[in-house]
Amino acid sequence: MCAICGCGGGDHAHSHGLSDRSHALASPPYASSDHSHAPSIEFGAGLAAVHIPGWSPQRTIRIERAILSKNDALAEINRLRLRAADVFALNFVSSPGSGKTSLLVRTITDVLSRRPIAVIEGDQQTSLDADRIRRAGAPAVQLNTGNGCHLDAHMVAQSLDELSPIPGSLLFIENVGNLVCPAAFDLGEAHKVVVLSVTEGEDKPLKYPNMFAAADLMLLNKTDLLPHVEFDMQACVEAARRVNPAIDILPVSARTGAGLSAFYDWIEARRLSYATAPPGIEPLNRRISR
Ligand code: MG
Ligand code: ZN
Repeated sequence: MCAICGCGGGDHAHSHGLSDRSHALASPPYASSDHSHAPSIEFGAGLAAVHIPGWSPQRTIRIERAILSKNDALAEINRLRLRAADVFALNFVSSPGSGKTSLLVRTITDVLSRRPIAVIEGDQQTSLDADRIRRAGAPAVQLNTGNGCHLDAHMVAQSLDELSPIPGSLLFIENVGNLVCPAAFDLGEAHKVVVLSVTEGEDKPLKYPNMFAAADLMLLNKTDLLPHVEFDMQACVEAARRVNPAIDILPVSARTGAGLSAFYDWIEARRLSYATAPPGIEPLNRRISR
């Protein structure tokens, strides 16, 4: 996460002191080799277990815990605020290019007549995605993270001030395209939804398990391209269930609309159960081991 990439300082000042060293570390010859006989180089056992020369793992873990616990407290405030306003928030996460924005545009087009929708768009730069969302008819706030590679709860709180979604709304939060650290940042959403397109390969849940463990739904997008790509749907489902046995999985195509009615039904069913769940119940998206 961000003690590695150096994008987040927890103070939104985005210090880059660590980033130079860690990016040097991440470039070749440390990057994984394409020689199949080469051994893999392990820097740790997962979140926070990183090795940066001159930087003790204990110190990294302390900083990560401090950042995450501050974020978690703010996320809890967002959650209470959203619940009080009867707003059901979904946090869409994926790698860049999986089709998140197209999926949201299509969903807005299909659902907006039945239910109000507001959108928070996260990208490093540009307001291109928020512009697309607004053209589809929904209010949107664009968050540009600069060098940051994820949204955090503080950014979402600021966007909520701006958006003020009306009661009964769906709030779609499109996170920065990144399958790594957005998994660790609770934004106060009801659920994380991970979007994986069939062009990305069926092994992604095993390669980025934290994200698939944190999500309650996996949308397998771009199924219209299945005849043209080598993608083993069954292997992908098995990989996702291996890291998260409880994850729901829906194949969809934002382009053709295939499978989307099942997604809309999922949203309504989850919205209903979330709205009627007694407050204080631990949300399903807190599955990340820290
Ligand atoms: Mg986008
Ligand atoms: Zn990040």
